[in-house]
Amino acid sequence: MSTGAERLADVHQRIAAAARAAGRDPAGVALVAVSKTHGADRVREMLEAGQRVFGENRVQEAEEKFPALKAEYPDLELHLIGPLQTNKARDAVALFDVIQSVDRDRIAVALAKEMERQGRRPACYIQVNTGEEPQKAGVAPADVDGFVATCRDVHKLPVIGLMCIPPVDEEPALHFALLAKIAARNGLAGISMGMSADYETAVRLGATHVRVGSALFGARAPLATHA
Ligand SMILES: *Cc1c(COP(=O)(O)O)cnc(C)c1O
Repeated sequence: MSTGAERLADVHQRIAAAARAAGRDPAGVALVAVSKTHGADRVREMLEAGQRVFGENRVQEAEEKFPALKAEYPDLELHLIGPLQTNKARDAVALFDVIQSVDRDRIAVALAKEMERQGRRPACYIQVNTGEEPQKAGVAPADVDGFVATCRDVHKLPVIGLMCIPPVDEEPALHFALLAKIAARNGLAGISMGMSADYETAVRLGATHVRVGSALFGARAPLATHA
């Protein structure tokens, strides 16, 4: 059995190797440790090993774990990587430092209103449905340019990047390359892509943030899994 610190070091090494192989500076890739379904004790283990950036996909679950940890570790950076409902926009703006799942006008409006009200402006990523899967969240590739412009110019959201979750049964590299291309033409520096199974590929194709859960924390309980 490896410890959390060992798994963390291994993932960091793999990210650095993939970055160097692609002629990139490893410092340009941030590891988002996806702690969904795992308790605060497991998050604390990673914090003690030096990890500071975490991702959760449910607002309520994050609210149960992170306020106390953030008080203890003021440099902790929390990313929302799961679907956001408009009635959770207030809580999301209050707790998260980055919101990676902005994917429709209603949520953009709700976030803008809350940012104005709270005076807190978490960085935003637009989620892109690169596989155009009907059941999956995200903006269709053809609609991204327009949606980014609306979020920036009309809603004044601090949009800094794009995020995608490729279809499980397709070659992820094609989706990663597409996301990087759309980000480049929109002048967006942030590219969130790659999970436990494919983060090295994502790094080679330009990811600035990889979202790694099971490779760091071990398998999640099947019933509690929610992508
Ligand atoms: C759960 C999740 C991850 C991490 O998945 P692993 O395969 O466990 O690394 C990454 N991104 C999103 C959006 C997720 O929901």
